[in-house]
Amino acid sequence: MKNVYIVGAGLSGLSAAIHAVVKNFNVQLYESSNLIGGRCRSFFDNKLGIEIDNGNHLVFSANENFYELCAIVGSVNKIDILPPDLNFFDIKENLYWNLDFRKINILKMFGETENLIPRTNLIHYLSILKFLFVNRQHTVSQIVGNSKIFKTFWDPLTLGVMNTSSNYASAKILSNVLKKTIFKGHNYCKIYQPKENWNDTIINPCINFLEKKGCDVKLKKRLKKLDVFDDFVSTLYFDDKNIKIKREDLVIMAIPPSNLKKLFPSIEVPTEYNSIVNVHFNIPKSLKKPFKKKIVGFINTSSHWLFLKKNHMSVTISDANSFNNFDSQEIANNIWKEICSYMKINIPIPEFQVVKEKKATVIQSPSNFNIVKRLTGLPKNLKISGDWTQSELPCTIEGSILSGKKSLIN
Ligand SMILES: Cc1cc2nc3c(=O)[nH]c(=O)nc-3n(C[C@H](O)[C@H](O)[C@H](O)COP(=O)(O)OP(=O)(O)OC[C@H]3O[C@@H](n4cnc5c(N)ncnc54)[C@H](O)[C@@H]3O)c2cc1C
Repeated sequence: MKNVYIVGAGLSGLSAAIHAVVKNFNVQLYESSNLIGGRCRSFFDNKLGIEIDNGNHLVFSANENFYELCAIVGSVNKIDILPPDLNFFDIKENLYWNLDFRKINILKMFGETENLIPRTNLIHYLSILKFLFVNRQHTVSQIVGNSKIFKTFWDPLTLGVMNTSSNYASAKILSNVLKKTIFKGHNYCKIYQPKENWNDTIINPCINFLEKKGCDVKLKKRLKKLDVFDDFVSTLYFDDKNIKIKREDLVIMAIPPSNLKKLFPSIEVPTEYNSIVNVHFNIPKSLKKPFKKKIVGFINTSSHWLFLKKNHMSVTISDANSFNNFDSQEIANNIWKEICSYMKINIPIPEFQVVKEKKATVIQSPSNFNIVKRLTGLPKNLKISGDWTQSELPCTIEGSILSGKKSLIN
């Protein structure tokens, strides 16, 4: 039986472990922290008195590897499948609209202005065709920066999908996403959300599945260094033990690039990250539930997306490095004002929690994807996994899960 040693129990490490046990390999999974799930995790927040996710992860139905993993671990029934439409609110113009992917049909849109972003016409949407002709050096702004729907569509989409400003984001990667979603039709644009939270939908089911197969995740096990002999990993060094690795064994590094670089100082990996800030609020008693709209994109605001959940409300700010040193109270006050404008309410700020993920994703620029594409010089019995290792997909749950699966393929 082949031995597989996996370092890192985020989604990519979990995916690698699950695909390895399905192949009947002998799997050992090591995680440096005391939590499983990495950048996609849930925790009980004492201040709010509820379990929250670190961030509001949104998954499109085009993401077949996510769905496949849920099917393997038996958690498909824990996915909330939302229709393929998004609501928007422009605070400056005081405009609301609904972008329904079922109605994005070029022929039907002639004359049907109610399905369009206010003050636009069909011609403005043809900018999508430009994404069929992009190269690896283009940024999104270079392709659609002048489009009339840049601010109301391309920029929010880019920030949401790539956590990178359109001025830096790779147009090729956005083009790949469009080809898997909007270009294929509305069935690929439904929105997956967790019914409760991400631990419940994906992390715990993965852990339970692995445990049943006799693979428990070893927590608080940080890989400090490794030995390489004759181009093969020969020893892994953890705080409390060393593990001898055979040439025929497989080592999978499912860790972020900065952590990989510590183990292999000579390799070139992306070094710049963008943060994501999430502000979670308790729902004031005076607000009516359940909310009709579950996800709303905000334009001309600090907030980018508002998620209205069963027991709390949560705002995501992407590409948020400029907020890293801001006071949390100040951020929350500002965001709450924007929510009040959207809801046309005037209610004092409820209890809140601000979660700053300073290394949410690498900056998803053409140059960073090119660095990943060129990456070589790793030992022969070692594979790397992780959202950032996929040079054709954005850094997402789908990319992580696919990377874990691919690391098991020769
Ligand atoms: C706030 C936020 C919002 C997001 N929103 C979305 C979204 O809407 N949609 C979407 O698809 N994606 C989203 N993402 C991205 C998504 O969460 C990530 O792409 C994915 O979780 C990355 O998983 P990973 O396994 O590749 O890496 P990680 O989750 O970073 O896992 C790596 C693991 O390795 C461990 N580790 C590191 N070094 C060592 C070591 N030396 N020894 C042992 N263990 C080690 C770490 O502790 C960690 O648990 C978001 C991310 C954040 C932070």
